[in-house]
Amino acid sequence: MDRTNRAFTGIATFLRAPFCADPATLNADIAVLGIPFDEGSPFMPGSRMAPRALREHSMRFVGGAGGLYDPETRRTLLAHEMNNGLIADMGDVDIRPTAVEVTFELITEAVQQILARGALPVILGGDHSITYPVVRAFKEPLYVLHFDAHTDYQPFVHGLKYTNSHAFRHITAMSTLLGLTQIGIRSLRHSPETVDEVEQAGHRIISMNEFRRLGPAGVSAHVPDGARCYVSIDVDAMDMSLVPGCVSAEPNGLSYTELRDALAAIASRLNVVGFDFVEVNPLLDVGTGVTAYLGAHVVIEFLGNLCASPMWKKRR
Ligand code: MN
Ligand code: MN
Repeated sequence: MDRTNRAFTGIATFLRAPFCADPATLNADIAVLGIPFDEGSPFMPGSRMAPRALREHSMRFVGGAGGLYDPETRRTLLAHEMNNGLIADMGDVDIRPTAVEVTFELITEAVQQILARGALPVILGGDHSITYPVVRAFKEPLYVLHFDAHTDYQPFVHGLKYTNSHAFRHITAMSTLLGLTQIGIRSLRHSPETVDEVEQAGHRIISMNEFRRLGPAGVSAHVPDGARCYVSIDVDAMDMSLVPGCVSAEPNGLSYTELRDALAAIASRLNVVGFDFVEVNPLLDVGTGVTAYLGAHVVIEFLGNLCASPMWKKRR
């Protein structure tokens, strides 16, 4: 008899994609990798539970003929990819509690293995510290576009280097970085050095007022057409009212529509070589798991727009 595959049945993989335990056998275009790491969270832990929560909620988008039909645009996203096994779930990076540098090596290695197979890494964090070991896996030059309420650009003092506030200090030191743009920056908990030094290093900060002036398509306008770019999305880029399951939520953030449209503009014009989505904390989330649901929604819709772009079709 036909199965109805309700979202709460079966073993959760991202979008119910086939599980690929051995990267050497990876044959998909898109490789989803969980990084259940939150030792970079100095306040409340729990984002280590996010890859599972995001997978759970992604199952709610699977049904019918495959793909996601958008009543607004009358397009079906990801149908080709979902129906032809072009998405693989690689499971999670092995985590070595308190051995942060060892875990980070394992993260970099896992991303390198995905890149070696020619697949697009889609990274589910975890806290934002993981973006550093992910981005260092890329050997070719790239731009980084970073959506966040915070610059995550803390100086390395007091022996601290690997918190979720340090990732972009590491990334700006990489010889592969062509330019960093930080979008949605607004928290009043910054120190001047964590903002001013980003710009002094030649990078770009787009505050909320500037975001609203530029519009969603304007945030990547300075990145050349077709350039390689990595996108890092902290769920706290979105407004506090949308993300109860995020410890660092801030007021005056992006609406879902603003984030979606900014990501869609990036997908249509740039060569996205990987992206991450971080900082959902299921231990803080409300009973319906709306923050994890919204997170899965962001990842799936961005991926759908990416796969619908002419750039992606040309690459595959
Ligand atoms: Mn962040
Ligand atoms: Mn943040």
